Amino acid sequence: MSVEAKAKYLGTVLQVAVPSPLRRVFDYLPTRAPQTLAEPQVGIRVRVSFGRQQLIGIVVAVANSSTLEKKQLKPILASLDSEPLLSDAVFKLLLWAANYYQHPVGEVFAAALPAKLRNGIPLRGSSKFWTASEPSTSEENSLSRAVKQKALLSFIRHEGEVSESKLRQAKFSKQLLAQLLQKNLVEEHSRAEVAAAPFEPLKTESNFDIELNEEQRIAVTTISKSLGEYKCFLLNGITGSGKTEVYMRIMQEQLSKGLQCLVLVPEIGLTPQTIARFKQRFSCSVVSLHSGLNETERMTAWSQARDGSAGIVIGTRSAIFTPLAKPGLIVIDEEHDSSFKQQDGFRYSARDLAVSRARQEGICIVLGSATPSLESLHNARSGKFVHLHLTQRTGIDQSSAMEVIDVSSEAMLEGFSEQLLYRMRKHIAQRNQVLVFINRRGFAPVLNCQTCGWICECENCNAQFTVHANPPSIRCHHCGAAARLPQSCPSCQSKELTTMGIGTQRIETFLKKQFTDTPVLRIDRDSTRRKHSLEKMLEEINRGEPCILLGTQMLAKGHHFPNITLVAILDADSGLFSADFRGQEHMGQTIVQVAGRAGRANRPGEVLIQSRHASHETLQSLSNKTYAEFSEIQLKERMSAQLPPFSHLCLLRAEASEMQQALQFLDGIAQFCQRFSAHNSLPIEQLGPLPAPMEKRAGKYRVQLLLKTDKRGKLQALLSSLCAELENMKLPRSVRFSIDVDPQDLV
Ligand code: ADP
Ligand code: ZN
Ligand code: ZN
Repeated sequence: MSVEAKAKYLGTVLQVAVPSPLRRVFDYLPTRAPQTLAEPQVGIRVRVSFGRQQLIGIVVAVANSSTLEKKQLKPILASLDSEPLLSDAVFKLLLWAANYYQHPVGEVFAAALPAKLRNGIPLRGSSKFWTASEPSTSEENSLSRAVKQKALLSFIRHEGEVSESKLRQAKFSKQLLAQLLQKNLVEEHSRAEVAAAPFEPLKTESNFDIELNEEQRIAVTTISKSLGEYKCFLLNGITGSGKTEVYMRIMQEQLSKGLQCLVLVPEIGLTPQTIARFKQRFSCSVVSLHSGLNETERMTAWSQARDGSAGIVIGTRSAIFTPLAKPGLIVIDEEHDSSFKQQDGFRYSARDLAVSRARQEGICIVLGSATPSLESLHNARSGKFVHLHLTQRTGIDQSSAMEVIDVSSEAMLEGFSEQLLYRMRKHIAQRNQVLVFINRRGFAPVLNCQTCGWICECENCNAQFTVHANPPSIRCHHCGAAARLPQSCPSCQSKELTTMGIGTQRIETFLKKQFTDTPVLRIDRDSTRRKHSLEKMLEEINRGEPCILLGTQMLAKGHHFPNITLVAILDADSGLFSADFRGQEHMGQTIVQVAGRAGRANRPGEVLIQSRHASHETLQSLSNKTYAEFSEIQLKERMSAQLPPFSHLCLLRAEASEMQQALQFLDGIAQFCQRFSAHNSLPIEQLGPLPAPMEKRAGKYRVQLLLKTDKRGKLQALLSSLCAELENMKLPRSVRFSIDVDPQDLV
């Protein structure tokens, strides 16, 4: 804000974060309304009138003045809590996140709370219990023939008091109780629920039947030494190297001190098997937080974490906001996974917030992955994170051989080369299982020549053109160059120009025709929508009979397929030439993760990657080298292009039903940014405004403006000033605008 606003009212004012799209807090006067539980304080929920609505917000500060006049200030209608809802660390994390991600603070708080709390339900309910009335002779008479009622009465008398669950356990019906109540033989009472007791610290000497290998031992000892202060560890271990075992040893150590552990896993990684593994190992209560819970279950799990009765809290992205009474450790499994970044609304990165939170709480955090993100590797190199390595596969030492099949001059059958089909037949004939993977990443199709392998690339940039359908054209997302869609290959004049795009269903049909005697199991979001369908397919696979597994990303994680001996990556090229600068990193991670499914048992595995660009450096570095060497090359490329982690990005998006509106709006924003950066001598690079690679979505045209700087601070200064400006402006109703700080994908 340009001018410091003057105080017009002096006196206690509550600054309330109200769930509204406005990026600010609102002032209210404290009053003791009749329903009020206690004096308003920071961190409690209050009910306020907001425009014509009544909303529930959180008090984020108690100030002693307001820039509004007293008559403009409304008193709160009620305060809903007697104590702050969130822990201090989570409260501060949310304020920080609202500021960092430039998201309305009220919506940030709302996103962090279970729906029940958001809707004003008390944190703790009250529970009913019943006691018997004073005995009298009339009682005997009234019950002389009611044997069941008599039994219940003597049960209650014997117990002193009974709760609903006790009645249920003893198999007395509610109806029976109602009859006794009506006769005044039983009295009803209610009592406010209290916080559940903290979990019982685990016994230290509990036995593990697994003996750690040398690398695991080093990892465990190194982390153990730092427990009790903030430190971030990058546990870099190949699939099956025993990362989870390392997490569990450290967790054990903290749980035995009565400290809680928060474990975040990717969306598709949180399976009943994962939860079962932790439950099996630890005797304390394990609660899970994920999208499959109903609101009552979520509230219960959340409260147990907050009260400290749950020892382990395991969840997906949003579980990072769960308050913990006694935090001891945070673990992020598969830290590179893109599901840790929220892609709409409040666009936070749970991994990055987890690191902030750990620092805030003064505890250790472990980021685990077989294929760490370039960001985390960079942080490990610069000394921000401690790098720990697990290079040995536990159990039988079998790693898969990777091979790239050059298909540039092959006639392909629905995406399969003759060679690949031949190898698949061989593995099936040996009664093994085969996994066929299709990389769905890289939304924008690539234009290339089927005859000579030519790829349509931008002259100004070291990047490929993206094909746009409407109107038919090619465009560079890096410099804005555009041209008409070529009708023939400039290199060999062939008219065989194609874009890629074969889906799983089409391949399923094809494979069923090719392998008539072998079951083909398709595993993707569509085929697993129905409950238990995934479990059923996994069961069939685990029976070990020859079969072909065909699937997407879902296959890349967590599952162990001991009988798979061949993994085929159908199309590496869409990742290789993705419009997104993270395309190659993601492709590499996916291939390494998928490859990790093969050869886990005592059968050696083979990994085949089909590509028209077999000699491409990225593919070669993947197949001939380790992931570490692959990521090293990727980091060098990022450095020379000054892309993250060597710079910081923010993507501003605008959507409108007409392209022109969105463009015009972002043009205005771009001009503001230019003026700001000139005026404050903050060099901020701008790319765009440009139509988004996915130009139209859900009937809206999308335009984006990418901001890039070397220092986060500069970007933050610009964004704060931009948001202040936007608050004062009347946004055109037809345009939807969003800010994505540290965007994961630019599509
Ligand atoms: P990751 O999480 O790295 O994929 P896990 O921790 O799941 O690996 O370990 C893979 C398998 O190896 C599990 O069945 C685990 O019980 C077992 N395991 C882990 N560490 C050891 C060890 N030191 N010795 C023998 N087996 C181990
Ligand atoms: Zn050609
Ligand atoms: Zn270009």
